[in-house]
Amino acid sequence: MTQIKVEDIIQRIEQFAPSYLAEDWDPIGLSFGTSDKVVNKLMIALDVDADTIQEAQELGIDLIFTHHPAIFKSLKTLNTENPRRNEYINLIKSDIAVFSAHTNIDAADYGMSDWLADAMELPKGREIISPSYQEGYKKLVVYVPERDVEEVRRALHNAGAGEVGDYQDVSYSIKGQGRFTPQKGADPAVGKIGKEEIVNEVRIEVMFPSQLTTNVITAVQTAHPYEEPVYDLYTLENEKKVYGYGRIADYEATTEEMIGKIISKFDLAGLKYASKDPKKLHKKIAVFGGAGADYYLEAKQKGATLFITGDVSYHNAQDMLRDGIDVIDAGHYIESVFVSEMSQVINKWKKEESWDLDIFPTKKQKDVFKFS
Ligand SMILES: [Zn+2]
Repeated sequence: MTQIKVEDIIQRIEQFAPSYLAEDWDPIGLSFGTSDKVVNKLMIALDVDADTIQEAQELGIDLIFTHHPAIFKSLKTLNTENPRRNEYINLIKSDIAVFSAHTNIDAADYGMSDWLADAMELPKGREIISPSYQEGYKKLVVYVPERDVEEVRRALHNAGAGEVGDYQDVSYSIKGQGRFTPQKGADPAVGKIGKEEIVNEVRIEVMFPSQLTTNVITAVQTAHPYEEPVYDLYTLENEKKVYGYGRIADYEATTEEMIGKIISKFDLAGLKYASKDPKKLHKKIAVFGGAGADYYLEAKQKGATLFITGDVSYHNAQDMLRDGIDVIDAGHYIESVFVSEMSQVINKWKKEESWDLDIFPTKKQKDVFKFS
């Protein structure tokens, strides 16, 4: 079992939902604690609030990982007289670190938008409602002595190279011979000074998003046995990868049917909706996590006639009906899928890397709204 620190978890989250996907206004990241703090107990929650802090204190939690950032408004004082500030003081006193991934999780592949679409059983092959980031690709070609191929390949994949669509660890290899003559001053891993050396090598090719270039080059330089690894770096003209918020899919259901499905999937006591005909059959349905009302026209443009989101106002709903769109306001709290989904993802990392870590999905967090 490997003891881990806050920074180890952050590094994996960064690969899953890179911070460059987050909006500029979004205060994601480590809001409390230090990155070299050892983590034995991790709690996962939608928000940091009085309930989750108390739960974390009782469980002896080292790090809380939340979707919504803990500090959204700038602080001018930090005294116990304001309830929210008092929560912050409690976190600091209890030495509990807090890390958040918000709009980067919303935009990530298989992040919040896809979790919600999954829960609503929208089929895969979904379209993004509001693209937020486009990313080009690079290719690295590196020549590695045969005996070190697996180690270098593993290092490349750990750095995030070789993810293509739904496939991981994608690479291409071909055998060949590398030649070199070490010169005075060299300290060769193979061969002798002044003597030409011929080594059986493998050419490995991997593709990766441009943002990972430094990671990937560092990984290959660290794992490669040679003093001077030879590699080529190419910028690819391939179609860029698009990230963004909300998902649309071809799916036939009425507003009424979707309401029933959402209530049962998320175990809701109720929800709001606006529809001129709840029995009308929709062919394209859109889902947008959080408060997505501002994006309904983008969903309409892409063919959706039912828009599912949270925090819809009276005037939002009026506008949508005027534009011929039915809306279901399932509440912002359906984003609590973050807790179960992220727990599963981190549990997978824990197994892969033999982390000595206990994961606690929050049990005390609940929706602030009730129905009567
Ligand atoms: Zn939210």
